[in-house]
Parts: sequence; structure tokens; C-alpha cells
Amino acid sequence: MNKKIVTKFGGSSLADAGQFAKVKAILLLDPNRQYVVPSAPGRRFKEDDKVTDLLYKCHRLASMGEDFQETFDLIAARYMDIAEELGLTVDLGAALDEVNEKIAAGANADYCASRGEYLNGMLMADYMGWRFLDSAEVIKFDAHGQLDAELTNRLMSERLADGIPTVVPGFFGSYYDGTVHTFSRGGSDITGAIVARAVNAATYENWTDVSGFLMADPRIVENPREISSITYKELRELSYMGASVLHEDAMFPVHKAGIPTNIRNTNDPNHPGTIISLDAPFDAAHPTITGVAGRKGFSVVSIAKAMMNTELGFSRKVLSAFEEYGVSIEHLPTGIDTMCVVVSEEALAPVREKVLSRIVATTSPDTITVHDNMSIIATVGRGMVHNCGTAARLFSAMSRAGINVRMIDQGSSELSIIVGVDDTDYAETIKAIYEAFVNQ
Ligand code: ASP
Repeated sequence: MNKKIVTKFGGSSLADAGQFAKVKAILLLDPNRQYVVPSAPGRRFKEDDKVTDLLYKCHRLASMGEDFQETFDLIAARYMDIAEELGLTVDLGAALDEVNEKIAAGANADYCASRGEYLNGMLMADYMGWRFLDSAEVIKFDAHGQLDAELTNRLMSERLADGIPTVVPGFFGSYYDGTVHTFSRGGSDITGAIVARAVNAATYENWTDVSGFLMADPRIVENPREISSITYKELRELSYMGASVLHEDAMFPVHKAGIPTNIRNTNDPNHPGTIISLDAPFDAAHPTITGVAGRKGFSVVSIAKAMMNTELGFSRKVLSAFEEYGVSIEHLPTGIDTMCVVVSEEALAPVREKVLSRIVATTSPDTITVHDNMSIIATVGRGMVHNCGTAARLFSAMSRAGINVRMIDQGSSELSIIVGVDDTDYAETIKAIYEAFVNQ
């Protein structure tokens, strides 16, 4: 049986030599940990800079014709310090000079930013005595900047087929012509998932500075419980919460391949963290819900028209107005004569009048209204199907807390209940729901 483990370490896990030493100890503890995907050095303390941010800054300054040396020196010092403290022999000076020259010669922003991971990968390979594989050779993007997942998977698995322990720097790849291109911020998570799929790993370990997911935002709920296991589908539904720990796009390669992701804490390596898998066990002793998370700042556009259900193409006309002006739709709760479209307030604002006029022109509704400052809160749990009265419990808790429910949307999967409330009720709603399911 394949027991290979792919590990990805985030920026704070590799911020200095002390953190590198922790990473090495973790890697050596289990011989199945044969692949490592490093991020660029992150913050060492609260006010510190992330190397990636400094690299973007160098690019910005260079493109305005301004001097970027002072900023570049900060970056160079970060790597030099690590290399020196760990006694590494890699020719870092030459690598740094090359990056410096390329920035001065007008290299694009993606190239500049990607060097954070590239250089950290060089250090890591030297420190572990492992092979270094340049991600630009194996991670490929099409002309639109979309990952070519199948080509990437083929190239990556070919290169890693020999089973030699390898360092694959995170965050970037290249277009077909070899020009470097990055994922969006936090994208090293995606690289890790790609490597895990390519070597058909038993587990994808994503090492960060928290011990996995919590059932609710700790800034709202005091000491929320940890989530020990969650399914990929549940996490998608909870994406408002997950995004800060794991890049959303990092789920697809491993989800598809059925490989579990284990979120772990570099600073607390004995903690089992959170396991995300296809079919996490249902534990009857566990609360009915897996987590509750939400986000503020939505607008709900409500369109009412008598007999809309008999009017062919009504919804299509409404939805195309949003599509035409580039506003993507978050939720779509409907009634027999009303249709609500929930969208991000920020995305709607600049095109609001245009979208509304288009809907009026194409569908002649009886009324059309917009409620701003709405929050969307998702209560998610694979346990919901096993328990009657989940919705009743949730709404009684909200009613006891005096919260007005402005919108309800229950997915047909019985995996989540989504409610819309005023932004001012956001925190209270999360607290009330959490308390109803966890502490009662
Ligand atoms: N270093 C990149 C960033 O700061 C990518 C990553 O850390 O995943 O966004």
C-alpha cells in the first residue's frame, strides 16, 4: 500500500532558521514524508514583513523606475540569515544576484513573487539533502492563466516516479512557453495538493500555525471546539471559514483523487489537527453540526412578479443581467412569485443601476428591491441527516436571541442551512447557533 506523505509548510513555518529546524524534525520523524512543498518565509513576529510582499514591492518600485535595493537587501538578509544559521553550503549569493538582476531588467510581477518560494526551496533542499524540482517545469497554465491540471499531473508524476525525496517550491508554475506564473495568494497549498495527487499520496499534510479548523470563529465564540474530522463537501459549504486556513482551490486535486488532507501545526507537532476526507466517520457523540461560519457584506436583490413560475425563461433573464455585468451569484433562494439573488455588495455596487434596469427591462417585475448590509451564515454538518429537528433547533435559538431571519436557504444535500441576517446581527447569530448545538 502506498504510504507516501506529501507535506506543505506555510510561511510562518519557514520564517527563520529555528522554524526550519522544526520542519526538519517533523520530516525526519516519519520516513514516509518524502515530498516537501515550501512557502516563502513569512512573518517572524506581528509587524514583520512576508518575503512575498517584499518581492511584490521590489517589482512595483522597479516598474516605476525607483530604487528597490533597500527592499531587496531585506529579502536577501532573510535568506542569508537562515543559510548561515543552518550552515548551508548552497550558492545563495549567485541565486540572489540573478533575482536582483532580473527585477532590475523588468521581470514581471509573477516571476518576482515566485522567487520567494524558489529560494526557500533551494535552502530546504540543501538542508534536507533532497532533490530540488523547479515547479515551472512541471506546473503548467494555459493562455488564460488557468491551471492545466491534466498536463501538470502527467509531468509531475513522471518527474517524481523514481521515488527520490524531493522539494517542490510552492505558489508558481509557468505558461506553456515557460514564462513564470503564480497562483493567487496563499497558492502554495495548491502546489502541495498537486504533488499529492501526482504521487498518489496516502495523505497530504498541510503544516501551518494553527492546529486545524475550529467550529466557529474564535473572535466571536469563546474557545470554540476543534474539528477533528470534516468532509471535503462540508468544508466547501463552510468555505467562509476555511479560506483563512487552506486555499479553496487546494481541495480539488486531492478531493478528486480521494486523498485526505491533514491540517497540522508546526509549533505543536503532536496535535493530530483536522483531517479532511471524502467520507469522514459520523460520530454520534459529536455535535450535530460540524461548524458554523459566515461573512458580512452581501446585497439581496428581491424580484417579485405574480405567476413568475409560469413565465418561461424568467430566471434566465434575471441571471443574465448579473452575468452580463460580471457579478457572480452567491445564493439563490426562491419562492413561487419571488426570486432572491444574493451577491457581494462590493461586486454589485459599481454596476447596481445597470443590473437593476436590465432586470426591469427584460422581466417587467411587479417590484424589485435591494437589501444591503446582509450577512450570510452557513451552519454545516453531515450529522444533520441523522437528526430530526435541526432546523427547528437553529431557528428557535435565533428567535430566543431576538434575531430577525431575513432569508433561508437549505441545500437539498441536507448538509447545510444558510440564513441571511442583518450585518448588525452577524456575531449574535453565530454565537446563538453555536451555543444551541454545542453547549446544550
Ligand atoms: N508566498 C505566497 C503568499 O504569501 C504563497 C503562499 O504562501 O502560499 O501568498
